[in-house]
Amino acid sequence: MKTIGMLGGMSWESTLTYYRLINETVKQRRGGLHSAKCLLYSFDFHEIEQLQQQENWEAATAMMVQAAQQVERGGADLLIICTNTMHKMANEVQAAIHIPLLHIADATAQAIQAQGLHRIGLLGTNYTMEQDFYKGRLVTQHGLEVLTPPAPARQVVHDVIYDELCLGITKADSRTRYREIIADLAARGAEGIIFGCTEIGLLVNQADSPVPVFDTTQIHAETAVAFALQ
Ligand code: GLU
Repeated sequence: MKTIGMLGGMSWESTLTYYRLINETVKQRRGGLHSAKCLLYSFDFHEIEQLQQQENWEAATAMMVQAAQQVERGGADLLIICTNTMHKMANEVQAAIHIPLLHIADATAQAIQAQGLHRIGLLGTNYTMEQDFYKGRLVTQHGLEVLTPPAPARQVVHDVIYDELCLGITKADSRTRYREIIADLAARGAEGIIFGCTEIGLLVNQADSPVPVFDTTQIHAETAVAFALQ
């Protein structure tokens, strides 16, 4: 079994889910007392979020690269970045290490294509929903058609992530709002919905969507285990 390197703590609420899913998947596949070999570097998310807000991507990239190198030196055989947003610097991170980085958007696009879907709704932080590193990658590298909510709804999705989910807070009102936003994307023709933020699955699930959902946390964790057990 290979050792899975994880850059987590962004937020730790979703890293907990990753850790549980990775271990559960190894147990399902290997049985008995088997569990995952992994090395976790967990950030202080306050520091990361401040740099995001200041759009100081250079400093954020330097921190991500340094952490990835530490995990590699520790003996990881592969790396996952346990957040969609911080894939903004995925190329720089991959260039600075020798082990493979399993990109969350690529894993998700493959899961979508395996179901034969093409037009897909995307929920995540504003960075993820609006910028080329993520939305653009789904379009140009994977040929998907990506729908996002209108700007006011995008802001709701973004604010719920940072003001509630990353703090471990789930509110019924926010769940209702997310359901409406998902229903609206489906009404506009989305054949599936990407939960493109690793905390979204803490608030809503398949039961809240009329079309299939693609939870990036789950897909990414399973992809990492499949690679580790190859
Ligand atoms: N975990 C979130 C994501 O998947 C947002 C937190 C972050 O900014 O990294 O994008």
